[in-house]
Amino acid sequence: MTDRLKDKVAIITGGGSGIGAAIAKRFAAEGARVVICGRRLEPLQEVVTEITLAGGTAEAFSVDVSDEHAVNGLISNTVESYGQLNILVNNAVSIAPGMLAEQSTESWRQNFTVTVDGTMFMMRAAYPHLKHSQGSVVNISSICGQLATPCMAAYSSAKSALTTLTRNAAVEWAPHNIRVNAVVPGAILTPPTQAVMPTEDAQKAGSALIPLKRIGDPVEVANAILFLASDEASYITGVALNVDGGRAVELVTGDASWED
Ligand code: NAP
Repeated sequence: MTDRLKDKVAIITGGGSGIGAAIAKRFAAEGARVVICGRRLEPLQEVVTEITLAGGTAEAFSVDVSDEHAVNGLISNTVESYGQLNILVNNAVSIAPGMLAEQSTESWRQNFTVTVDGTMFMMRAAYPHLKHSQGSVVNISSICGQLATPCMAAYSSAKSALTTLTRNAAVEWAPHNIRVNAVVPGAILTPPTQAVMPTEDAQKAGSALIPLKRIGDPVEVANAILFLASDEASYITGVALNVDGGRAVELVTGDASWED
């Protein structure tokens, strides 16, 4: 454990699994007091127990980020308990896939209510406290917001909107020294990825288009978020940092070697 987030208080949405759980553990190991939320309390409590056993400080709340009143309560409870809020990570997601011509309105909106509305509710409620602490926000977008995928128009559009929201907030809040950045993961081995690539063979096949030729680990995303959230990134705001093994930058796939 080192102290890169010593004396900081961080809220992480969707902290009970996958990338959110990795962020919570990584932040706590760096000295942050961590508040995590999601809809189901049980997985959140498991993360809290793991952090506490490792000597860290964490607390869990059952909060649906698309419920603005619940979000307001989460932010005010956190500030009441810990006296401050320094870091907000908007990681919660609801993925409702569907072919564009057939997707129901309700399914389409589900992607936006969690990713876009939920992030906006969290940021709006956190703003006065982040202003006070000169804090930082990291929003978790997706490579799907940069490259098209059949069946994922709603998710992808919501993730693009999230990157745009990030840039706008960065500009609006820069006068108060609040930094707002996005991390853009590619394929990362979390429960949703495991569901679509359940075997090692499937994961190997899924790695074919990734220059680094492997699926990422949640902690590799958490490391990038840690950097952007910390004071080490004090002159960085409004960026979208890809953590994707190079997936979004390659035009022609294949072996880069010219040897025969
Ligand atoms: P995950 O394991 O499914 O985690 C998502 C978390 O969000 C869950 O803990 C879930 O808990 C919570 N959540 C869902 N709806 C919520 C709501 N309405 N309010 C509060 N919490 C809610 O997914 P992940 O793969 O770690 O993804 C984390 C982030 O990385 C997401 O933003 C995702 O889009 C992004 N990302 C992931 C990948 C990847 O390959 N894994 C790639 C690109 C981007 P409950 O169900 O209990 O609420």
